[in-house]
Amino acid sequence: MAERWDMVVVGAGTAGLPAAVFAAERGLRVLVVEKSRRVGGTLLISGGQMSGAGTRHQQRHGVDDTPEEHFRDVMAFSEGRADPDLVRLATDNAAGTIDWLDELGFEFSPDCPAVRFNHRHHPYSKARMHWGTDAGDSIAEVIIPELESAVAGGAVEVMPGTSLVGLDHGAGAVHGVRIEGPDGLQEHGAGAVVLAAGGYTANPVLFEELSSGRLVSPGLPTATGDAHRIAAELGGRLRGGAHWLPVFGGIEDPEAPHRTVHKDYWAVLTPQIRPPWEVYVNRSGRRFVSEEEGDEVVRGRALRAQDGQVFWVVFDEAVLREAPDLLPAWGADGVRARAGRKPPVMAADTLEGLAAAAGIDPDGLAATVAGYNAAVSGAPDELGRRHLPLPIAEPPFYAVENHGTTLPTPAGVAVDGGLRVLTAEGRPIGGLYAAGEILGSAAFSGSGAAAGMNVTPAMTFGRLLGSGLGS
Ligand SMILES: Cc1cc2nc3c(=O)[nH]c(=O)nc-3n(C[C@H](O)[C@H](O)[C@H](O)COP(=O)(O)OP(=O)(O)OC[C@H]3O[C@@H](n4cnc5c(N)ncnc54)[C@H](O)[C@@H]3O)c2cc1C
Repeated sequence: MAERWDMVVVGAGTAGLPAAVFAAERGLRVLVVEKSRRVGGTLLISGGQMSGAGTRHQQRHGVDDTPEEHFRDVMAFSEGRADPDLVRLATDNAAGTIDWLDELGFEFSPDCPAVRFNHRHHPYSKARMHWGTDAGDSIAEVIIPELESAVAGGAVEVMPGTSLVGLDHGAGAVHGVRIEGPDGLQEHGAGAVVLAAGGYTANPVLFEELSSGRLVSPGLPTATGDAHRIAAELGGRLRGGAHWLPVFGGIEDPEAPHRTVHKDYWAVLTPQIRPPWEVYVNRSGRRFVSEEEGDEVVRGRALRAQDGQVFWVVFDEAVLREAPDLLPAWGADGVRARAGRKPPVMAADTLEGLAAAAGIDPDGLAATVAGYNAAVSGAPDELGRRHLPLPIAEPPFYAVENHGTTLPTPAGVAVDGGLRVLTAEGRPIGGLYAAGEILGSAAFSGSGAAAGMNVTPAMTFGRLLGSGLGS
């Protein structure tokens, strides 16, 4: 065995960075193994929105809030499906995490604290959403220097481009790690191993296996779920995958299946921001949820029930000309320039031709458009929609292919209150801990989406493990 460490942290992201920093502060020798060439993990692409109650930042703004109220809101948003013990641990300690960032010089956006960041999430009962001036980068910018100083002080070693490939296990406990990187395969001893390797937004096979859905995601390319698999091989229990609900919309990269194009190129499908001028149809050419439905959970459920979680936003030349931009980064001319016979933007002179290009049932599409046009002329709309500005009648006709997309992944390893990984029988695996998205977003949100309940719990649990929780 090459070397023995007090703690090995697997993944230098949202959870792993604070785990390493706080463990070093406690005098531990820490090895950080990171699959990517860069540290930062999902923080480098995340919105970085954090929820926390009782923070100094709230106090500065006169917001009187408590972890108990935060806990109650999160459990209500999750319809009681989140893990109450983990939510309690997260909400009780969230303020400590946000205050820590505050001490490090985190630059809060002037718009926070607020009850919500955007319309994707239910509003909280108190203004407890916190975010920085530069999304997740604002967090990375204050934490990464802390890691660098721990490295400079000799307490921490970081191995970038190196992956956990296995765990040394015996007598019910983990004693070390097998890692693979530029220097080949190595074994290291460990007093404790913290799995902070994130989710599986880059593993469509695992996603299908755990969540019975099609993965399309903007997530980290190194979020391959290795640690989920490795924990499961030791008997660790995976749970929560069935709670998956897709985000409503997102455009798959035609060059990279399962990945989205950059979010700036997604269509604006949020009715609170842009009332709809189009219809959304499934493979049968049928509408499956009102385009005016503003509740992300309701429309996520409707989309999950569709074959392949794919749908098409259908409109015509008059809508393209008259409506506010559906795809602001492209504008109407950009849509025309991209329109063809393959995704993401299909166009044809007839609805039948459009259906053929998109792979939609032509009779279903014709019936849907006829029904919608009748509603524009005053007949009742089949889904009760009220914003019906123009019929879909002027060729060319367009269809923009959209997908149910995934940000955090729902399934994760079960842990106890000390964040020790549990077997299917509920026994803790000695020396093996987990923090962050590897616990599964469902543990904090159920099927819903509780705002800021990935980033704050990830950092909080990393901080708590680094500070000695469970040891
Ligand atoms: C676009 C986007 C926006 C989001 N916005 C928000 C938001 O605003 N608020 C919110 O609460 N949540 C948000 N989320 C979710 C949230 O950001 C993540 O759940 C959270 O950051 C994950 O933290 P983590 O530490 O578990 O994983 P990460 O930060 O992803 O870190 C895991 C690290 O482990 C590494 N790794 C993987 N496998 C191995 C291996 N075998 N060996 C070694 N290293 C490995 C990875 O390379 C990565 O660096 C968003 C997610 C996405 C994709």
